[in-house]
Amino acid sequence: MNPVKVNTVTGPIAPQEMGITLPHEHIMYGYPGWQADQTVYPLDRRAVVNRMVGILEELKTFGLKTHVDATPADQGRDPEIYKEISEKTGVHIICSTGLYNETQGGSAYWKFRSMLGDISNELYELFLKEITVGIRGTGIKAGCIKVASSHGSITDYENKVFQAAARVHRETGVPIITHTEEGTMGPEQAELLTNAGVDPRRIQIGHMSNSTDMRYQLAVLDKGVFGAFDRMGIEVIAGCPYEREKMPVLIGLIRSGRAHQLMLSHDFIATWLGRPLPVNPADLPFLANWYPTHVFKNVIPALKAAGVTDAEIRTITVDNPRRLFGGASND
Ligand SMILES: [Zn+2]
Repeated sequence: MNPVKVNTVTGPIAPQEMGITLPHEHIMYGYPGWQADQTVYPLDRRAVVNRMVGILEELKTFGLKTHVDATPADQGRDPEIYKEISEKTGVHIICSTGLYNETQGGSAYWKFRSMLGDISNELYELFLKEITVGIRGTGIKAGCIKVASSHGSITDYENKVFQAAARVHRETGVPIITHTEEGTMGPEQAELLTNAGVDPRRIQIGHMSNSTDMRYQLAVLDKGVFGAFDRMGIEVIAGCPYEREKMPVLIGLIRSGRAHQLMLSHDFIATWLGRPLPVNPADLPFLANWYPTHVFKNVIPALKAAGVTDAEIRTITVDNPRRLFGGASND
């Protein structure tokens, strides 16, 4: 059997080359519709590159080797910009295929088509081609599939996206990473995907840091999937608990032997596409720790102070992303 390779924006690498990995971040992000605002706020390609190069150069001082970009096809992803950033910094960048949820993604196009017929094969064709041939004729291949559900439900449209992702996973072995909305539907996502034939060890359920409910955490992890505490640093906004509430949950899970299923990231968005965000000054305190080195500067030292071992930190930051992308042969 061929050794497993991981698609990065500069070409395939061995899973062992991934090293310290941030498994859910965004170089650039725009809600569908941002394109229509480009007359006033055009995409400044140079600015996107320069900003992210600066961030990755700082992250390299903490040993970062791989950035997983969780931006799906309908949220402003640009693989050629990613490639330039990766070449400038030497950091591996893994790009996603897949689509965002129904309410906040680019669903209008697909929902219109689904009135005319079943879109299942169309979604499958898109995800498969982005992984095996490349994205938009660039030859740059996606390395994971991003899927997303709504608050408290997986809609019919989202279910079709999940099923297409599962089918493409079965054929390509590429892992699936998810967005959950405000701490809901994690167990249902895991069940839907595993029922569709996805190996649970190739699934990362996202935004688990949105829940402080230990029963919810265990309901997800008991399915054998990875759970990502991937919104470290964000408080209150997007339904995120305070950091002081997240940390005991994280530490509790590690103490109960779940380090081999956890990952850490920020869901940081380096550039918002379209207009700059008008941040309400009242919200600034809740974003004070939302910066791309927070996990290394604050979270990991706090875990160590709580007795988490270096080996467990390595499991979370290095081994788990490698196993997610590399599969069983990389346990
Ligand atoms: Zn995200």
